[in-house]
Amino acid sequence: MPAVAGLSPEILAKYQPVIGLEVHVQLLTHSKAFCGCRNEYGGEPNTHTCPTCLGLPGALPVLNKQAVEYAVLAAKAIGCEIRETSIFSRKNYFYPDSPKGYQISQFDKPIAEHGFLIVPDASGADKRIGITRLHMEEDAGKSLHDGFPDSASRTYIDLNRCGTPLVEIVSEPDLRSADEVFEYLTKLKEILLYTGVSDCNMEEGSLRCDANVSVMLKDAKEFGTKAEVKNVNSFRYIRAAVEYEIERQIGVIEDGGRVVQESRLWNNAEGRTYSMRSKEQAHDYRYFPEPDLPPLVVGAEWQKQILTALPELPEARRARLSSEYGLSAQDAATLTTDRALGDFFEQAAKLAKSPKRVASILLSEITMRLRAVEIELGQSPVSLDGLVLAADLTEAGEISSKQLKQLLDSCFTEGRDFAFIYSRDKPQQISDTSAIEAMIDAAIAANPAQVAQFKGGKRTVAAFFVGQVMKASKGQANPAVLNELVIKKLDA
Ligand SMILES: [Zn+2]
Repeated sequence: MPAVAGLSPEILAKYQPVIGLEVHVQLLTHSKAFCGCRNEYGGEPNTHTCPTCLGLPGALPVLNKQAVEYAVLAAKAIGCEIRETSIFSRKNYFYPDSPKGYQISQFDKPIAEHGFLIVPDASGADKRIGITRLHMEEDAGKSLHDGFPDSASRTYIDLNRCGTPLVEIVSEPDLRSADEVFEYLTKLKEILLYTGVSDCNMEEGSLRCDANVSVMLKDAKEFGTKAEVKNVNSFRYIRAAVEYEIERQIGVIEDGGRVVQESRLWNNAEGRTYSMRSKEQAHDYRYFPEPDLPPLVVGAEWQKQILTALPELPEARRARLSSEYGLSAQDAATLTTDRALGDFFEQAAKLAKSPKRVASILLSEITMRLRAVEIELGQSPVSLDGLVLAADLTEAGEISSKQLKQLLDSCFTEGRDFAFIYSRDKPQQISDTSAIEAMIDAAIAANPAQVAQFKGGKRTVAAFFVGQVMKASKGQANPAVLNELVIKKLDA
């Protein structure tokens, strides 16, 4: 990324960036927030519409119950308190793709407040990022500025998205670097995906992020003036945009200027932000309670009922996988980044003799091959039973790790499950102890220096002899038998 004005590290170090995020998340409900229209990405323009989401006079909104339940689930998953009685308000502004002339949102009484996320800071330590509020609102339609023969002179409007249920999640200005922004968003997305309330697909706009960025001198008491970087469509770009914006603002101040409160757009091709419009103040929206919707009451009983659908969240699952299956922190972390991967592991781990073996085969051998052919776990040729069989055979020493790799290669090139390939190819395995002993003797005779090291107390050298015999046997020596015999021979 091009630096702004080549600011020196000394100058950058004088300033403290302060960042807060507003994240809009579309909810995966069947219908829209206030009408019965299909809530679905895409479709022929203006086909998922009705008088209510078109904002025709006299049409009345009716709140979608599923949207409320999803909002509560999302809020609880990020540690928020639920407000028993929340109020919908009109946020008034004109936008061509918002035909009512206002957006139904929540203002001073949102459905949830006071949450938090824990993210790693620069040193890797846990840092708590406050979440001010989570409120419900509706999405606007879309202005289509290109893709038509007369796009040079006209803009088209598609109102299919109009009225899609959203939650907006507003963080406290607790973030201090572009990396923390990246970590926060990654964590937030991971949690929301676990709850199943959104697909968080950034390319289709189901998760969108605006970043409020300001800088101040490190000993300053007050935050600087903030600029808002809007609608960046990947976490990587948001990190780059925030990084750029921090340096731009420091450059402005160092040049004796002042930062202007405004909205800015990120141009990824150029690696910089551009001024879009000066930012209106919140009171310009003339919020007032939506007269067509009664207060939303989510009582204790309903909350309890909703929360039965709240799954174990990634953080808790990570800790449990470590303690329950004896996995390393790293393996437990990788297995929980994706709920489906974690579920697949746990189902296999319950059937297999060694959960650790399952984790290692799944995370290295299977994941690597899935990545190489660019398919998802759901399309893997190796089924759950196949993984269990592979793990059990490897654990029992009936196939070597080299043989396992060959069998899995065949599974992926032929698109067959592990059980089929294994019973067809049943790798030759030498378990005859006298044959293995002979090979060990040969290896010991050929490597006196390593024998001396072993005798001198460096017992890890045993692995060297195991490797030599494996090579000599073309990977066919039974590893369990081999390991045992090598130690026995060396100790003799
Ligand atoms: Zn509608």
